[in-house]
Amino acid sequence: MTTATMLEHQQPGQITVFGPDFPYPYDDWLHHPAGLGSLPQAAHGATVAVVGAGLAGLVAAYELMDLGLRPVVYEPTRVGGRLRSHQFEGADGVVAELGGMRFPVSGTSFFHYADRVGLTSAPFPNPLTEAAGSTVIDIAGQAYHGRTLGELPPEFTEVALAWDEALQQIGFGALQDAIRARDIGTLKRLWNELVPQWDGRTFYDFVATSQCFSELPFRYREMFGLVGFGTGGWDSDFPNSMLEILRVVITNCDTDQRLIVGGAEQLPRRLWTLPVSERSPWPSGTTLASLHEGVPRPGVAAIHRHDDGAFIVRDRWGTDRIHDAVLTTCQGWLLTTQIECDEDLFSHDLWMALDRTRYMQSSKTFVMVDRPFWKDTDPATGRPVMGMTLTDRLTRGTYLFDNGPDRPAVICLTYTWMSDALKMLPYDVEQRVKLSLDALAKIYPGVDIAGHIVGDPVTVSWENDPNFLGAFKGALPGHYRYNHRMYRHFMQDGLPPAERGIFMAGDDVSFMPGWAEGAVQTALNAVWGIMTHFGGASHPDNPGPGDLFDKLAPLDLGD
Ligand SMILES: Cc1cc2nc3c(=O)[nH]c(=O)nc-3n(C[C@H](O)[C@H](O)[C@H](O)COP(=O)(O)OP(=O)(O)OC[C@H]3O[C@@H](n4cnc5c(N)ncnc54)[C@H](O)[C@@H]3O)c2cc1C
Repeated sequence: MTTATMLEHQQPGQITVFGPDFPYPYDDWLHHPAGLGSLPQAAHGATVAVVGAGLAGLVAAYELMDLGLRPVVYEPTRVGGRLRSHQFEGADGVVAELGGMRFPVSGTSFFHYADRVGLTSAPFPNPLTEAAGSTVIDIAGQAYHGRTLGELPPEFTEVALAWDEALQQIGFGALQDAIRARDIGTLKRLWNELVPQWDGRTFYDFVATSQCFSELPFRYREMFGLVGFGTGGWDSDFPNSMLEILRVVITNCDTDQRLIVGGAEQLPRRLWTLPVSERSPWPSGTTLASLHEGVPRPGVAAIHRHDDGAFIVRDRWGTDRIHDAVLTTCQGWLLTTQIECDEDLFSHDLWMALDRTRYMQSSKTFVMVDRPFWKDTDPATGRPVMGMTLTDRLTRGTYLFDNGPDRPAVICLTYTWMSDALKMLPYDVEQRVKLSLDALAKIYPGVDIAGHIVGDPVTVSWENDPNFLGAFKGALPGHYRYNHRMYRHFMQDGLPPAERGIFMAGDDVSFMPGWAEGAVQTALNAVWGIMTHFGGASHPDNPGPGDLFDKLAPLDLGD
């Protein structure tokens, strides 16, 4: 099913990533026939340096171009950023998703753009879903097989019920009802009560102190850490602020996830070549690619304020270009490690927020195999020889991607976060494959995975890449205020002149880190900020995020 058909089938009243911190309807803004807004003619052609050609950078660059500005995109490596789809040699369209790979249907802004560029999606083979077929949960040396939760031993259902009950005790159902109804008053009232209660407390604290879990044996907590609440491996998040987890579950980011057929990197790549809409002041057929002679400018080495209030952006080879505004979309740490910035471009409070941001580590290792051999039946058990696997061993999560019976398939041998990812960090791809195969051999002693591998394996450790320094933000207890400072920065009216004209977007600016939807929503905030910076405005019938900011603003906890 294409995403277009899928979205048509969604009913009003569905759960979407509507807040909870800033419940602005981005999907309505995007779908309105009046468009996002307009600019005075004098501003047409003004240049905006866009630092980074990931999803946030390209959504913003596309919309700024559509409004009549001239975005100038800088990128040190490849278009796509953390949507990186590795194409296996010789197998057209067979990819390994090294970054974002499963996209919840509640991410309606993400799917707006996926539809715009004509991408198709399919159910993601998450544990215990129909798309996975069979799931194996290997814990403390014991492997459990099942296609659904009901087929696993009853302890797993007890864990799932304990989690549901723990959530209900803090008002989960009412929060979801408010999101479904887009009832802003109720949603803000309920969420704003939770923010001060849970900002300073960890996910583990929530689990350990909830009445339902504390009545269960410790092993149940371990099982929960392994299986989580849909996507697996949630013990890596135990030290994070509980608010991070609550946002994910109340917006259904952990359920009903889809993969992008042929790879998610196609989304930013297709935005690069997407022609402007009929509304745009640019001639029809103009694209970001055509404005850049096909390729982005090199990575940015420095951002300074020019005497006349504009910006001097120096690329890594020493060329200076003057721009009327700047939008940074790279991870915030890079503004101190990789890009020399005038310190007074941001307040000290904002620098503090950027530098205290905590990124999670993540590693993945993939192999291409000759065929989806895991579906073969084991004559001894009558079950498939292998399933989607969650384990407490080194590999943690093993995902199986079936591209059809006559095509090579793909195995993500291991997908890990935090300390599990650090265990892989020193090793090259071959050693990572070997370590993974050794761990999987203990779960599947009779299965010759290596005998099916074809082509070169591929691996990634995002923390080891100077253009990222980590996979995605995972806010720690006490970080709400930092998030708040970064998130509201696109509202620049109250800022001193020295701090205006430079904007930021990306999933680490968002309250929803680690989800492409957060990258898109913050990009749209920046589009509104930049449009109004140049004297433009949203259409009165289609107010933008900044127009409604005072009404919807995230709770201010004060200093
Ligand atoms: C391992 C992993 C798994 C994930 N899983 C999911 C998932 O399943 N579902 C989901 O929705 N999301 C997932 N995400 C998150 C998703 O990938 C991100 O939210 C999204 O891709 C972020 O886009 P962005 O534009 O904010 O940042 P990025 O993609 O990081 O873009 C920033 C760009 O800035 C560039 N840059 C760096 N330095 C400079 C410089 N000096 N000058 C110019 N440019 C520079 C970088 O090269 C990069 O291209 C995952 C991410 C990772 C890493």
